[in-house]
Amino acid sequence: MTSVAPHKKAKAIKPGSRRPAKELCSECGLCDTYYIHYVKEACAFLNQQVAELEAQAHGRSRNLDRQDDWYFGVHQEMMAAKKKQPIEGAQWTGIVSTIACEMLTRGLVEGVVCVQNTPEDRFQPMPILATTPEEILAAKVNKPTLSPNLSVLEQIEQSGMKRLLVIGVGCQIQALRAVEKELGLEKLYVLGTPCVDNVTRDGLQKFLETTSKSPDTIVHYEFMQDFRVHFKHEDGSIETVPFFGLKTNQLKDVFAPSCMSCFDYVNSLADLVVGYMGAPFGWQWLVVRNDTGREMLDLVRDQIETQGVMSSGDRRQAVQQSIPAYDKGVTLPMWAAKLMGVVIERIGPKGLEYARFSIDSHYTRNYLYVKRNYPEKLEAHVPEYAKRIVGQYKLPD
Ligand code: FAD
Ligand code: SF4
Repeated sequence: MTSVAPHKKAKAIKPGSRRPAKELCSECGLCDTYYIHYVKEACAFLNQQVAELEAQAHGRSRNLDRQDDWYFGVHQEMMAAKKKQPIEGAQWTGIVSTIACEMLTRGLVEGVVCVQNTPEDRFQPMPILATTPEEILAAKVNKPTLSPNLSVLEQIEQSGMKRLLVIGVGCQIQALRAVEKELGLEKLYVLGTPCVDNVTRDGLQKFLETTSKSPDTIVHYEFMQDFRVHFKHEDGSIETVPFFGLKTNQLKDVFAPSCMSCFDYVNSLADLVVGYMGAPFGWQWLVVRNDTGREMLDLVRDQIETQGVMSSGDRRQAVQQSIPAYDKGVTLPMWAAKLMGVVIERIGPKGLEYARFSIDSHYTRNYLYVKRNYPEKLEAHVPEYAKRIVGQYKLPD
C-alpha cells in the first residue's frame, strides 16, 4: 500500500474565508492549497523563523556582529546592475524576467511561479506556473498588491515538475522555504524582490486616488531613491510626488496589517534578490545570497552592466525625525515637502545608506505597530536583527 503525504489529506481554505493568521494574513497563497496542513509552522505571521530558515537555505544565519548582515541579510556579494537593453514595460530594467526566461530556455527549470494580472485589471494579481518565456514576460512589472503566489503550489506536484523557479516577496518565500522539503522537487531556485508597504486592491485604489492627479491612467509606480513617488501614465508621462508630501493622515490605514508587521523587507530567504534601493538612481540593486543565487546571476552577466555598491550621507537624523512625524500622521504642505525633498536629495543618504534609511524608517514604524496592536507577539515575531536596528533609535511609548 502506498502512503499518502499528510498534506494531501488537508483541504484548502474556501476563498474569502478567514485565514489562520486572521487580519495579519498577507494572502501569500499557502492556505489556498493543501499545504495549509503546515500553516502553523510555515506562516510568516504565525511563526517567525527567519534565522532557522536562513541556515537551511544559505548554510548560515545572519552574523549579528556584522551590521551589513542586520540590514541586508546573508550575502556573498552586492552590486548595482542594469540591463544593457531594458525590457520595455518591466518594473525597472527587467533583470528578474530575463533571469527567469534564461533559466527556462536553458532547461535549468521546467516551470516558473510568477504573477500576471487579470485581463480586466492591470493591478489585480493572477499567479501562474509559467512554462514558456512568453508567459514569464507577461508577468513583468509589479502588481503592487498582496498576491497569492503560492496558490499554484498544488499544480507543481500534480505536474510532476522536479526543477522549479519561484519569484516572490519575503512573506511568500518564508512560507515556501518552510514547505520546500514537502514539494518533491530535485531543485528549487528562489528569485526574490524586496517588498514593503503593500496593500489590498481596495487599499491601492485609495492610495492612487489620494496621491495622483490621474489615478485611472497609471500603469506603473515606484517609491524612488530621489525621495519621490514616480507614477508612469498610459501616455508615457511621469508624475512625481515627494514622499514628505504624502497625505500620511489619510494613508495611515492603507497599508495591509501584514506589511505593517513585516521585518523581512530584504527577502532574507531568496537565493538572489533584485531590487533598487541600495543602488544609484536608475540602477537595480542585486544581493547574491548563496551559490544558487550566483548560478542564476551568471546566466545574464553578458546582458547586464554592473558596478560596485556605494554608500554616502548619514540617515540617522532623518530617520529619528520621521518617527514622531509618521506616528502623528503629519502631512507637510506641498511647497515644504518639495523643498525638503530637494534638500534631502542633495545632501541625503545615497546607495546603501538610502536602503538603510528605508529599512530603519519601516522597521521602527512596524515595531511600534506590533508593540501597540499585538504586544503579546512582539518578542517572538520581531527577529533579533530587527531588534538591533530598532534599538538604535528613541521610540515614543
Ligand atoms: P520585472 O522583470 O518587471 O519582473 C517583476 C517580477 O515581480 C515578475 O516576475 C512578477 O512575477 C513579480 N511580482 C510582481 N508583483 C508581485 C507581487 N505583488 N508579489 C510577488 N511577486 C510579484 N525594491 C526595493 O529595492 N525597495 C522597495 O521598497 C521595493 N518594494 C517593492 C514592493 C512590491 C510590492 C514589489 C512587488 C516589489 C518591490 N521592490 C522593491 C522590487 C522592485 O520594485 C522590482 O520589482 C525589482 O527591482 C525587479 O525589477 P525588474 O524590472 O527586474 O522586474
Ligand atoms: Fe496562510 Fe499565507 Fe495568510 Fe499565513 S499569510 S494565513 S500562510 S495565506
